[in-house]
Amino acid sequence: MKAHSGEVGVFVRIRPTANFCPDLIECLPDGQTVTVRQRKDCRKPQDTRRDQLICWSFRLEGVLQDVSQEEVYARVCQRVVLGALDGYNGTLMCFGQTGAGKTYTMTGSTESYKQRGVIPRALQEVFREVQKRTGHFFSVHLSYLDIYNETLVDLLSSLQGSARQSPRGMVVTEEPGRGVFIRGLSLHPVHSEEEALNLLFEGGLNQIIGSHALNRNSSRSHSIFTLHIESRSRTPCDAKYVTSKLNLVDLAGSERVGKTGSEGQMFKEAMYINKSLSFLEQAILALADRRRDHVPFRQTKLTHALKDSLGGNCNTVLVANIYGEAAQIEETLSTLRFASRMKCVRTNPSVNEYSSPEAQIKKLKKEVKMLKEELSIFNTLANRPSSRLSEAQLAEINSQVRKYLDGTLEEISIVSIRQVQAVFSQFKLAVQKREKKEKSLICPTYNSVEKDQSAETAGIKWGSTDDVEEGSFEASTPSQKNIKRLSSAKTKKSKDKQSQSKRQEEASPVSRNLLESDSKPRTVSLRRLSSLPSSTRPKAEAFEDFKVGPGSKINSILKENKTVLLERRNLLRQISEEVNAVKREIDCFMQQQTGGEKGQYPVTEEPDATSLMELKGLYRQRYQVLREMKAEVNYCQHLVDQCRVRLLSEFENWYEGSFLGSKKELDLTLDKALKRGKDNQRPSELDPSSFHSFCNARCRMLKLRKTRAVSSTPVQRRLPKS
Ligand code: ADP
Ligand code: MG
Repeated sequence: MKAHSGEVGVFVRIRPTANFCPDLIECLPDGQTVTVRQRKDCRKPQDTRRDQLICWSFRLEGVLQDVSQEEVYARVCQRVVLGALDGYNGTLMCFGQTGAGKTYTMTGSTESYKQRGVIPRALQEVFREVQKRTGHFFSVHLSYLDIYNETLVDLLSSLQGSARQSPRGMVVTEEPGRGVFIRGLSLHPVHSEEEALNLLFEGGLNQIIGSHALNRNSSRSHSIFTLHIESRSRTPCDAKYVTSKLNLVDLAGSERVGKTGSEGQMFKEAMYINKSLSFLEQAILALADRRRDHVPFRQTKLTHALKDSLGGNCNTVLVANIYGEAAQIEETLSTLRFASRMKCVRTNPSVNEYSSPEAQIKKLKKEVKMLKEELSIFNTLANRPSSRLSEAQLAEINSQVRKYLDGTLEEISIVSIRQVQAVFSQFKLAVQKREKKEKSLICPTYNSVEKDQSAETAGIKWGSTDDVEEGSFEASTPSQKNIKRLSSAKTKKSKDKQSQSKRQEEASPVSRNLLESDSKPRTVSLRRLSSLPSSTRPKAEAFEDFKVGPGSKINSILKENKTVLLERRNLLRQISEEVNAVKREIDCFMQQQTGGEKGQYPVTEEPDATSLMELKGLYRQRYQVLREMKAEVNYCQHLVDQCRVRLLSEFENWYEGSFLGSKKELDLTLDKALKRGKDNQRPSELDPSSFHSFCNARCRMLKLRKTRAVSSTPVQRRLPKS
């Protein structure tokens, strides 16, 4: 299926069973067609056709039989997730009878990393991409909604910091420009796969679980796990940003009340589920019928909440889960009918692009600044008659300054700004002249000193590489007559930054040396590491192992980033030298023009205004490149810092998980998983960082489950009595 094609992708997944009936359910070799046969139901005993079979054929996008969780994700969900990172809304929905494998497809097993479902895999993909797409800044928020007996339940409201919302306070709302959303549903920012998995498992614990004849753990509610993604370019003048919503929907199973033996509360739940699913079917029928202009979305909370996600601006995928046993053939048929209706729905996915007012203001301010600089240069070059001093005036100022320095004139009266500037310029020349004279008397190698000085006067000087890093570089704008000299002392800001990063490193017992020595290769298996007692594994040594083991990925990114940073710094130095050279030439011209240098430079011709203009143009252009390069160096430095912090924090987590708390449990999981991984896991499947996130989140969930087992489930307590 093409990305963002406007067709709903419909797949059927068959739950493996020992009693699969190949006579009634047949998957054709094209991998897309499933044929279902059903005995004709004739109530009249005399009807001779009652042994006849009726045959239905359903052609969908794919039939998933005996397919691993990894492949299901790759075929069904991956393109929707990648689309969401590019700004397209996405919805993946599992539909089918109770026990057919909807939750297995969506969430999968929390016991096994290999059997995790599409949601944990989508989270892994999202954070992997966020790290890869360094040109953009991503923000990811999560929400987890349950619709139980037509009541909206926030599965993450038990989390610290989220405002407790009574279920009656939540409402499905529509706003122009924002679409459909649930007012009152808590949104949680997440920055890593592990944080996101913690929320998924937390929500899972809070879900209503109802025992059932077909499946003792099947959820009796519709759950919608949503990722809200926003992506902004890191280029400061880019005012555009994109947003998207990725809905991962696990629908409650369709019930046949008589068959499942539901009574009392269970019967009531079944009635609600059937009602909402039948309204969902009606909405799908209306969406598929292009002649209809009204779609009844508001009939139930489920259809209303999914209004944006079924058709419209969305990449939508449906997985129809079926249970391939003879006894379930009626449910199988009704699920497949629903799936084929869904296939007719057309969507119109498009990127949700917006313009940020703050970024636009920033952009305009920058433009105004540039224009002011241009104007200032233009004024200087144009030598406006009103502000220009005549030859006679300049000569008069020159003589006044000389007299003032001799002591024959007591004071110079201020006449105008131009005159004051000219006076200063004469003072400067006098001081320079005197200095030059004195130095030539003291030091015979004056010429080389002078060379250095002229570079400083030009305003740009490079200190050590660290100076560049700390942002001590300063250069004046082209409009300034005298370019500012660089102070070698670090600015307060850069000092703060330095001490902050020092503090960060001191906070961790792993010294800075650890970070510096990230090149020594070692090969130590994860398993060997975790089986050593903490006393025999000093942290420094463990860090070295971590860098070639589970932290190898982030460590190699850190190294790559450092190399790029070095390249950029070298480039920056080159450009700054070019700018200095041009500036020196301009200064030379300008001094000739003001007449101050007459008699000092061996000039034979009058300064040529056109070449001065060209020089200034060149200066502006190189200066702009210099600024951009400086921003790039800062950005690269920022990335290197981020990688360092990330490497350290991941190491701390890993160290804690491997040698400290809940060690036994994690060891057991690691051992098992690695053993399994050796036996039957594809090499690409075991991503060490993702695996650790999964194990950590699972450990946390197990602890939570233990503490919560004592009391009743929090969701039950929050639900209103109806
Ligand atoms: P549903 O959510 O549709 O009610 P579940 O996902 O809870 O059903 O699945 C019911 C049981 O069947 C679970 O124990 C699950 O592990 C198992 N199951 C479902 N589909 C598969 C599959 N494709 N492979 C292995 N086990 C499965
Ligand atoms: Mg379920």
